Amino acid sequence: MKKDLHGMTLKEYYDLFQDLAEKKYRAKQLFQWVFQKAITDFQKMTNLPQELTLKLQQEVDFSGLKIKKKLISRLDDTTKFLLSLPDGETIETVRMSYTGKESRDRHTVCVSTQVGCPIGCPFCATGLSGWVRNLTTGEIVGQVLEMQKDVQRNFPGKKVTNVVFMGMGEPLLNYDNVLKAINIINDPLGINIGMRRITISTSGLVPQINALAKEKLPIVLAISLHAANNNLRNELVPINKKYPLDELLSACRDYISSTGRRITFEYALIAGKNDQAKDALELRNLLKGMQANVNLIPLNTVGETKLRRSQNKIVKIFAQKLQESGLEVAIREEKGSDIDAACGQLRRRRVE
Ligand code: SAH
Ligand code: SF4
Repeated sequence: MKKDLHGMTLKEYYDLFQDLAEKKYRAKQLFQWVFQKAITDFQKMTNLPQELTLKLQQEVDFSGLKIKKKLISRLDDTTKFLLSLPDGETIETVRMSYTGKESRDRHTVCVSTQVGCPIGCPFCATGLSGWVRNLTTGEIVGQVLEMQKDVQRNFPGKKVTNVVFMGMGEPLLNYDNVLKAINIINDPLGINIGMRRITISTSGLVPQINALAKEKLPIVLAISLHAANNNLRNELVPINKKYPLDELLSACRDYISSTGRRITFEYALIAGKNDQAKDALELRNLLKGMQANVNLIPLNTVGETKLRRSQNKIVKIFAQKLQESGLEVAIREEKGSDIDAACGQLRRRRVE
């Protein structure tokens, strides 16, 4: 099988060129075309001799993602893509762009890490569709490159600034490919996105959180908490039955002390389920004394479930209750609600 240029580190480019008896600086030139310029056409790599590109085409390929559908929100310019993979499976990738005079441009890409997801959270469209397979490193990085092209088309001279692993799938179940993708995305010679602008969101896999702590990467780790007691969390995030809250929180404390980085806890507010004053107090107690940020996300209602989003005034009260205890709280604005921006919804529509 041909090697996927989107899934290789600079070191692997060097190794390949050594195997092909080609010069090292040529490997660097190719790396820059692929990751800095997001080019997938050898004809456009004007500083590479044709002899070399012909030889390369025998050995290598690109991740081969194709845009099947593109939806642009009328509310906030959030753009959601349904991308097809070489084996015909589909995934979703979202671009969120914030432009404005005061704030510097921010172009955030939300990438998928698996086709479907085995965790099965009942409020999540991806979870409702089951799991098919892990994405390769190239398929993960390929999403960022597709979005880079979209940013360049829509905002000339601008680039993707942030990457969040919050699309379809559980990133820590695809640990090696996700970590390798992060290293490639971070390479200063390539896409060059700083570690601090990369976020991994996880449903809470304790052994993998422990492993990640050892890597000591200054990325942002986000934990999808959604409930502050085991009964409710077993229902909302079923992996909790395997890794209950005390184990999860203890891994989080270790993570914070070994990396020196705060953790973000995500909490989707679901009407009547986890949004009452007693829930806020329970959450306060759970996170007491931790270096934590809390992101409150009013649930993006997925058609077929009975779970509904909390009303705005309930969200505000909940946030206040947490803030009183000194927690850093943000209410994450809902993006692209008119285009089913909650990941998994678009693919699910197509699968049905
Ligand atoms: N599997 C990982 C990352 C992908 S989901 C995880 O669960 O963390 C990214 C975030 O979106 C998670 O916090 C998840 O709980 C949340 N999410 C999923 N479906 C949602 C919905 N319908 N409304 C609001 N948030 C949702
Ligand atoms: Fe999987 Fe995350 Fe969806 Fe849960 S919320 S089913 S872990 S993608």
